[in-house]
Formats: sequence, C-alpha cells, structure tokens
Amino acid sequence: MRPEILFRLFASVTTLPGVGPRVAKLVERVAGEKVVDLCWHLPTGVVDRRFNPNIAEAPAGRVATLTVRVDSHEKPHGPRSPYRVLCSDDTGFMALVFFNARDDYVRRMLPEGSVRVVSGTVEEFHGGRQMTHPDYIVHLEEKATVQIVEPVYPLTAGLSPKVLVKALRAALQGLPELPEWLEPATLSSHGWQPWADSLRAAHSPESAGDLEPDAPARRRLAYDELLANQLALALVRARMRRARGRALKGDGALRARLRDLLPYRLTNAQQRAVEEIAVDMASPDRMLRLLQGDVGAGKTVVALHAMLVAVEEGAQAAFLAPTEILARQHFETLRPFAEGLGLRLRLLTGRDKGRPRAALLAELAAGEVDILVGTHALLQEDVVYRDLALAVIDEQHRFGVHQRLTLSSKGGGPVDVLVMTATPIPRTLTLTTYGDMDVSRLDEKPPGRTPIDTRAMPDSRIEEVVEGLGRAVARGAQAYWVCPLVEESETVDAAAAEQRHADLQRRFGERVGLLHGRMKAAEKDAVMERFVAGELAVLVSTTVIEVGVDVPNASIMVIEHAERFGLAQLHQLRGRVGRGSARSSCILLYGMPLGETAQQRLKVIRDTDDGFLIAEEDLRLRGAGELLGTRQSGLPEFRLADVEAHGELLAQAREDAASVLADDPELKSQRGAALRVLLYLFERDSAVRLLASG
Ligand code: ADP
Ligand code: MG
Repeated sequence: MRPEILFRLFASVTTLPGVGPRVAKLVERVAGEKVVDLCWHLPTGVVDRRFNPNIAEAPAGRVATLTVRVDSHEKPHGPRSPYRVLCSDDTGFMALVFFNARDDYVRRMLPEGSVRVVSGTVEEFHGGRQMTHPDYIVHLEEKATVQIVEPVYPLTAGLSPKVLVKALRAALQGLPELPEWLEPATLSSHGWQPWADSLRAAHSPESAGDLEPDAPARRRLAYDELLANQLALALVRARMRRARGRALKGDGALRARLRDLLPYRLTNAQQRAVEEIAVDMASPDRMLRLLQGDVGAGKTVVALHAMLVAVEEGAQAAFLAPTEILARQHFETLRPFAEGLGLRLRLLTGRDKGRPRAALLAELAAGEVDILVGTHALLQEDVVYRDLALAVIDEQHRFGVHQRLTLSSKGGGPVDVLVMTATPIPRTLTLTTYGDMDVSRLDEKPPGRTPIDTRAMPDSRIEEVVEGLGRAVARGAQAYWVCPLVEESETVDAAAAEQRHADLQRRFGERVGLLHGRMKAAEKDAVMERFVAGELAVLVSTTVIEVGVDVPNASIMVIEHAERFGLAQLHQLRGRVGRGSARSSCILLYGMPLGETAQQRLKVIRDTDDGFLIAEEDLRLRGAGELLGTRQSGLPEFRLADVEAHGELLAQAREDAASVLADDPELKSQRGAALRVLLYLFERDSAVRLLASG
C-alpha cells in the first residue's frame, strides 16, 4: 500500500486549481495524469524579465520589462494588418502590436492615458521599437509580479503556460515533507538540499545554468530516481538469490554427445560462455546470468548446453521466447538435437488448448518432459513442473521483472536463470535494466559469415529497388521487405504492409507473403513456414520479424523509411540476412527530407556491423530514453536522470543501494522506512511488495 504521505502527489491533476477534465487531458499529454507527474515536468528554458530599460535603451531581440504610457490606439488598416497601440516614456516611443486581437480586449487592457508595465521581446520595426503580443500587461502596482525569472515548460497545443504554471505552483506549494532517504554525508558532500526544496529549486531556475543536468537540484532529483531504480533491482536480485540455489553439475554425457552432433565447432566466445554458465550452475548459489550477443552470434547453442546440464541432473529446463514465431523456431532448431540425444522436447504456446494442452501439462508435472519451449503461456498458473532447474529467457527486454520472478519460482525449489539478449545494450544501460547480473558476452561471430552490403537511398528510387529485387528473386534469392512503424498502432502499420504486399504481388505474383502483428498466430506461422520452405520469395512485414527469425537462405533486406527506426532495431533487422553462404545486401530506403541526425544514423548503420558500436552511437545520437524504442524495450524510462550525464551518479546509487541492503535487508531502519517512501515515489511498488512477501 502506498503510504498516506504520498496520497496528494498521486492524486489526479484535476485536484489542482484551474485543471478541469479538458485541461487535464492536455497536462496528461505533456506530463502525466498524476500530480507527481506534473512535478517531474521540469522547465527546459528560462526567461529573465528583470531587465528593466527605458524605451530608448531597449535593445531589439531581448526580453525586457518596460513601463509605458498608453498614448493612442490604431485600428488595423486592412485584413492582415495588426492592431497597434502607441506608447511612450520620457525617452521615446514604442508600439504594441496585436494580430487577430479583439478590439475590446486590447482597449480594456490598455486604456488610453493609462500607465502599464509590459513584458516581452523588444523588436525593431522601421527604425522604431515595438513589441508583438506582450507576454504580460499589468498595472504599475503589479510590476514586481512580472519582473521575475520565469521557467519555460514544454507545452502542447491548447495548453497555455499560465494554466500550467498555476497548477504547478499549487502542486509545489502542497509538496509533503518527505522523510530524508539520503545519508547526511551524501547531502553535504554534494551540497544537496532536501527533496522538496530541490524540486522547488528545479522549477525556479535563475539562469540557463540551472537547467543543466549538473545543477545541484537536478542532480539530487536524478540521484533519487537512480537510487530508486537500483534499490528496486537490488531487491529483486536479493529475493532471487535468497533461496539458495542447487548445485547442478551434470555428468557431461549429453554435452559430449552434443559436440558430436553439432555440424560446427563452438567459437571461443561460445566456449567461454558455456563454461561460465556451467560454473554458475555447479555452484550452490542461484545463477542469474545475462548472455549478451549480437544477432547471429550463436546464443541458442549456448543455451542448449545450459539446458543439458539440468537434464543430465534429471531435472527440467524451460525456454521462454517473446513471440509465438520465435518459440516455434527455437523448438524447430532444438528438435534435431533433442532427437539425436533422446530428449523429450515439447512446445507450449497460447494456441495449445483443451485436451492436448492438459495432456502436455500432465507429462510436464510427471517429469516426462525434459525441455519445454514456449511463450508467455509458460507463465500460466496451471503450468507446473516436476523439477524445474533452469529457465532460459530469450530476448528478455520484452519481459518484465515480474515475469522473470514468476518463471523462476515455478520450480518448487530455486531455479537458475539465464537471460539471453541480442540487443547490444551499452554497459550503463545494462546496469539500469539488469542491475548487477553476471554477464557473458559473445563478442565473436561464427566464422564464414559474408559481410552484408548495406546501402541507403531515397525512396524516390524504390522502382529501381523493386526491379533489382525481381532479378534476384528470379535467381532464387529470398528477401524481407520491412514496412515502417507508422504510428504506435499495429492497425496502421498493418495497413502500410498490406498496401506494399499488394503492390509487390502485382509484380511478382503469389510468391509474396505478408506478416504483421494483427494476424492470428496460426496465420503467421503458416506464412513463416512457407518462407522457410522457400515457397515464398518475398516476405513483406512489419517489425514483427525483428527478433530472432532465422532463414539462412534469405539474403536481401529492404527497409522502408529506415530513418524512422532506431539504430539498434535496424541492426537487428539487418541481422536477419547474412546468415547463409550467399552474399547478402540490405537496402535502407529513406524519406526526404532527411534531417541531420537521421543522416548520421544511417551512416553509422552503413559503416559498421558491430552491434555494440552501433548501440553506443545510438545512445550518443538519441539519448538513452529513446534508445531501443522504449515502447518495446522495457528499459526503465527515467524522468529526471540522464544516464549519460549522470553516469557517475548511477554508479554511486548502485553502491548506496547495495550497502543499505547489506545493513538493512528488510528496510526496517529509519532510513529504510524513508527508502520505502522513495520506492513508492518512483512507482517501484512491486519492489516493495517483494519485501512484504519475504
Ligand atoms: P543468435 O540467437 O545469437 O542470433 P543463433 O543461435 O540463432 O544466433 O545462431 C545463428 C546461426 O549460427 C544458426 O544458424 C546457428 O546454427 C549458427 N551457429 C551457431 N554457432 C555456430 C558456430 N560456432 N559455427 C558456425 N555456425 C554457428
Ligand atoms: Mg536467437
């Protein structure tokens, strides 16, 4: 349960003055629906209105606050000319200019003969001074309320700065005094203020420097967020480690036979990973290891080795994939080995229902299944193992921490966990996502891969591409054609893919298939099977093929609107080809005009095939939040921290979290109680629940 002291922060923004349902929708768009979301909505600019020149001294282009006398009104001359109000002071004249203004409004604000304080950007016009649509027009007595340094917030159409600032001011005034969760030494060494003061300070910048990530108030808030993140991860890890693992050694018999069955030798990197995993499994501690390897690095066979350790011990292994297609594919990849080794390998997906499903579950519970491959279906409550010892989780970034926990608690006893990811996540991000999981990295690709020829061209040349595709298909090549993510909507994406599919079918006939996320699982499988079998020459799809699909004969990848994809995603997509012996190519079609960053990004993809380098570049060019397209990455989205700018705070937060939990694993001390509040503040409620459930 969220503590009462946070209730006001977690109330709807409609509890703030001036925020009704309509405004709430707009606030939600820029910040979020809760008061706390609005508090995290920090200014991105600052306007200094303290400059108070007289008219003759007011420089054009600068924001200033002036005290003027209203001399006369000049109505518009024509439909597009503005309404002008002529003003003066002892040093000169200035016009206030209004476009499309209502006469009565201007007249009421600026009656002739009155003295007014106006604030805005001074402009020069035909040698004179003017100000278009002043930001403020107030009476002389109110001058002090205008002559301030004002924060500037990101807005959305229809949301006025005044409304936003008013709501924010109320929110900041009503901030609860939260117990301090940072050590006094931390506060003093950084020169940090208490949380509420820091938040208020972050909303009251005095100069542009206060907006920088290294401003003390911003650093304090960032640290809080990072600490919440690291503490939550540490709690999950502690929970998963608490139950001592079991020592799984295996006699090595199955692994030895596997080596004979494999048509290739393991790379050194694979060999190393296999050994690291074997050591972890043999130790009585629970394994929590991340197997990170670029696309095509050969993670599957490493995972198979791990699963064989469990099976050699007479226990079971589960292999969880993020999509139906991938689960099926892993199953097919593993099948020949399972047959060769005499293993009982089964597949369970959302499509399995009724009696066959019940029969499979019975086998599983009786220990008649050695390895179970599947999708989220593996997480359902009635899926019970006789003796689950190892969970392999593929493409982990699509699964949340909770799902990891669910699977690892299905063994009855402790379950070792091996997480595989093809996403080359830079080190800093690995920390925020996986905490301090042990990492095995496949930094070497199997030999014999031909490099992929990558080219970028404007989509005006699509006709050439289609013709080239026609020639390649006539020679027996297979190609992927990926349509872009138009919106955050599968429906719209699907429509774009359908259109392209229809176009290409007109050219190449029935050998063009279509795959998108709106299709039923069975339809998707059928299409995939036809592509694998070579019946389809071209597969038009949305990004559903992004992860893992392995069709060695496919040698051409066309990506439309490549500029809309993340670099990591492009790299993943390109990794779908170049898996066989044929020379492969990847064509990145881009829409015009192409922005500066987009150009650079396409250049990175063209110039290198190193997934880690690409990820680092992507981080540099786009910032961490966007890196993987957060929608599907499951990476924590930081509101206040910037993992690049606050990298050293992340390391510190990690140490802080570790030392807190070492002294106070249940967060029962006074500081522990404050840290619980911190976890709730950053919505790490599930981590607090772990404490409760012990
Ligand atoms: P990943 O999952 O890391 O993207 P996969 O496990 O799907 O890669 O392997 C990609 C391809 O490389 C598969 O066809 C696999 O059979 C092959 N492969 C894996 N290891 C080796 C190796 N050591 N030598 C040659 N081919 C390999
Ligand atoms: Mg794979």
